[in-house]
Amino acid sequence: MYVGHFAIGLALKARFPKTPTLPLLLGVGFLDILDGLFIVLGWNLVTPNLNAGPYLFFDLTFIDWDHSLAAALLWSLVWGALFIRDKRGALLAFVAAFSHIVADWPLHNHDLALFPYADTHLGLGGWGRLGTLSWVLEGLFAAVLAAYAARRAAQQGQRWIWPCVLLLVLFANLSPWLSPMKLVATWGEPAAHLTHGVLVTLGFLLPGLMLTVLIDRAARAPAPARAQG
Ligand SMILES: [Zn+2]
Repeated sequence: MYVGHFAIGLALKARFPKTPTLPLLLGVGFLDILDGLFIVLGWNLVTPNLNAGPYLFFDLTFIDWDHSLAAALLWSLVWGALFIRDKRGALLAFVAAFSHIVADWPLHNHDLALFPYADTHLGLGGWGRLGTLSWVLEGLFAAVLAAYAARRAAQQGQRWIWPCVLLLVLFANLSPWLSPMKLVATWGEPAAHLTHGVLVTLGFLLPGLMLTVLIDRAARAPAPARAQG
């Protein structure tokens, strides 16, 4: 899952507006920020496969150090602990980070181990089974959450148009047609997996930071005057 993770972050922030934004919006992508780094370091293994679709075009051959259930739990606890000075914020940061593996579960093709090197693997395989339709469904999922978030933000006098626009751009960017991974998967190794890793990390780090800025700016902006009539 990609854009859906950020939509979960928006919904969490809208539901718990007093929680700092960064722990939520970077938290939802924390496991993939690590995933990209671990791919570059050679701890994880991804294999180019143009038939893998719908927007990743790589098989996630071994991603146990961040996307196994046990590792996800551990890293989510680490992420929450970074914000422990505010216990409630730390708990919500943990929830944001752990939501990642829960949201990945319906889509991943049997590559989510129970723990590193475990034989038991989870994942309903939505990407493989549904192909492009899984991308459409992820978009609908994100749209519903973004609509909820924008509505709640509006009730607090904030306009979340730009965060929603950015979500739309991310959705289009990692589509079956525009995904940069489609090109990267045709490159030779090691360029293919190294670039894949860098793109995964940046693909969660940069939008997470941008959404944080946009949301915090919307919170500071004066509430728009209501139209009379
Ligand atoms: Zn993931």
